[in-house]
Amino acid sequence: MNKKVVIVTGASRGIGAAISKVLANLNYVVVGTFVSSNETAVALKNEIEELGGTYIPVRADVRVSSDCENVVAEALNYGQVYGLVNNAGITNDNLLLRMTEENWRSVIDTNLTGAFLMTKAAAKEMIKNREGSIVNISSVVGLYGNAGQVNYSASKAGLIGFTKSLAKELGQRNVRVNAVAPGFIETDMTSKLSDELKEKAVQSIYLKRFGRAEEVAEVVAFLISEKSSYINGEIIEVSGGIAL
Ligand code: NAP
Repeated sequence: MNKKVVIVTGASRGIGAAISKVLANLNYVVVGTFVSSNETAVALKNEIEELGGTYIPVRADVRVSSDCENVVAEALNYGQVYGLVNNAGITNDNLLLRMTEENWRSVIDTNLTGAFLMTKAAAKEMIKNREGSIVNISSVVGLYGNAGQVNYSASKAGLIGFTKSLAKELGQRNVRVNAVAPGFIETDMTSKLSDELKEKAVQSIYLKRFGRAEEVAEVVAFLISEKSSYINGEIIEVSGGIAL
């Protein structure tokens, strides 16, 4: 049987780990990338396998094209490359005048160029199969902006343009491309924020709380799956309603 494989970048923790668990539970083979901790990746593999799912961890830096090609080659050992979730992302915040070129480039390289490189490698297979679904993890900050995050918001707004253009390119090959724009979600990324900033953020959210990674994962899984077969080129906010 030709199993459907979904590649998830930055999969070993936070939103990526939650996405991997939901997709594995839906019977997709999940190939999840990590860069820093082999131990965390193996722990997630064990957790998913105990529940009857399949999770293949692959070390890959999304900024490196040969790493992205290698992820796709690995995925092909397990079945058809059907889905891709470009989730890997970092922040490197500062006000514009204090932001170094390194702060800027590191975020654009990982969040935007990384998605480009990974998509280029995976889309080749999807086009061949005339079937596929790509989900890019953007952010509400890419839609509304945020002081102190010109690099991050530019990368996430870039992903929105990338999504819309690619949806036009690949639609006729039956490959759908959508994005999810999460608001404030409880992960390592937001745990760095000061209590004062967190409180201010909660006040700007209509649901008056941060979201959980699982709440983003369910929407991503819907967009990957055939349940969303007529949704293409959309940006779906998962933010509890937010006014930044
Ligand atoms: P997180 O807990 O900090 O996890 C980030 C993930 O990205 C990790 O798995 C990390 O891998 C991976 N990563 C970082 N640099 C990488 C690289 N060069 N190559 C490959 N993987 C790399 O973040 P998160 O909160 O789960 O965020 C996941 C995505 O959601 C990001 O794109 C983020 O911008 C977006 N998002 C998050 C929020 C939020 O409030 N948390 C809101 C909107 C959007 P390692 O574990 O190996 O280090």
